[in-house]
Amino acid sequence: MKKIYLYGNWKMNMTRAETEGFYKDFAEQVTGSPLAAAMGKTLEAAVFPPFTSLGTAASAAKSLASCPAPILGAQNVYFEPKGAFTGEVSIAMLKDVGCTHVILGHSERRTIFGETDEFIARKVKAALDAGLVPVFCYGETLTEREGNAAFDVVSRQLRALSALSPAELEKIIYAYEPVWAIGTGKSATSAEAQEVCAYSKKLTGEMGASSAAVLYGGSVKPDNAKELLSMDAIDGALVGGASLKADTFLQIYKGYAGI
Ligand code: PEP
Repeated sequence: MKKIYLYGNWKMNMTRAETEGFYKDFAEQVTGSPLAAAMGKTLEAAVFPPFTSLGTAASAAKSLASCPAPILGAQNVYFEPKGAFTGEVSIAMLKDVGCTHVILGHSERRTIFGETDEFIARKVKAALDAGLVPVFCYGETLTEREGNAAFDVVSRQLRALSALSPAELEKIIYAYEPVWAIGTGKSATSAEAQEVCAYSKKLTGEMGASSAAVLYGGSVKPDNAKELLSMDAIDGALVGGASLKADTFLQIYKGYAGI
């Protein structure tokens, strides 16, 4: 069975108390179940809490006793190391709190906060230089899809990383997230997701990353996950809404693995 990346983007949700509750439920779900054996082998689970809950998540992970903890990542970072950047958080700060991964280029950062391809590429490079794994999000809007521009947009967004070396490109986790499928309840079909994820692998291959991991994100839920995760170009899921409850989050993998 292939390894499945199950990554949960909590967005602007989850107080510290709710984060503790998530880890408690996570441990209850995993301990003594086939999930415990899968974790770190055929299941790579990660959560991306908001900045204010990262410390709580790191402490909760340490107190999980025998239960393997999910990887910890942040939802954003700034590329400058320190200084007068009000409202921003540095890579060193993320590492200090226990993060190993960081989501970059999420469509909400691109559309609501105006982040450009070039700006995101600088963040990706800074994260890689510091040894953080970037989870690089990209994908087309509905207008772009309807205008038959999905592949051009995806190509432009991925090629914004072309200054990186093959070894750097290989370290990135790619997350294809069509904007029209995020938080809408309307997932891409497995064929649509497969088509763009396969294209992404081809493109990253041409850029030098021969075995890049490509996740699909956009309204992934337990009831559509099996079909999506069974597609050969899809290595896992970046999950928003359905990642806020440990039970629902883990059901996404359980349904796929038949456990
Ligand atoms: C996301 O925010 O990355 C996402 C995929 O959200 P949702 O699963 O809620 O569509």
